[in-house]
Amino acid sequence: MPEHEETMKSGDALLIVDVQNDFCPGGALAIEKGDAVVPVLNRWISRASEKDLPVYASRDWHPVGHVSFREQGGSWPPHCIQDTSGAAFHKDLNLPADTVVVTKGVRFDQDQNSAFDQTGLAEEFRRRQIRRIFVGGLALDVCVQATVLDALEEGFETVLLLSATRPVTAEGGEKAIESMKKGGAVISG
Ligand SMILES: [Zn+2]
Repeated sequence: MPEHEETMKSGDALLIVDVQNDFCPGGALAIEKGDAVVPVLNRWISRASEKDLPVYASRDWHPVGHVSFREQGGSWPPHCIQDTSGAAFHKDLNLPADTVVVTKGVRFDQDQNSAFDQTGLAEEFRRRQIRRIFVGGLALDVCVQATVLDALEEGFETVLLLSATRPVTAEGGEKAIESMKKGGAVISG
């Protein structure tokens, strides 16, 4: 496990993936200790804000009866349905007023695990001259992994904030970290 912690600088952005009630304890698709990422991410939000760096927050935002739900043949119980409390960001996450929200999972015909999947986020980052992305959130082995791999694929330097993420399964988490390392991600404490 890494012992160093990367420092943020100009050209960096913080990307918080899906820290929503349904992925936290008590939610429809709860990840064990999912809410433990909140205080860690709040520290990163402070660091980004101190340096005037942008904060992005993605959210899973499904229509009722989404294709990713089990009743429709998908993998998951119904979760993060648009405008429900389960889809809201965790109340203790201190998102700045100018946080850019990235909405995904709205397509009727397919799921979008990555915050880059058909959202235009890569173009947005390039437009704002963002070169390096710090990523944390939920879940490590699903949407965080997909987001980090896409960020690398798009040519961004990418730092995974290990203490700011939790996996659905421990085994999945280990595999996810390996695949991100292989893809070129920096794993930070
Ligand atoms: Zn989803």
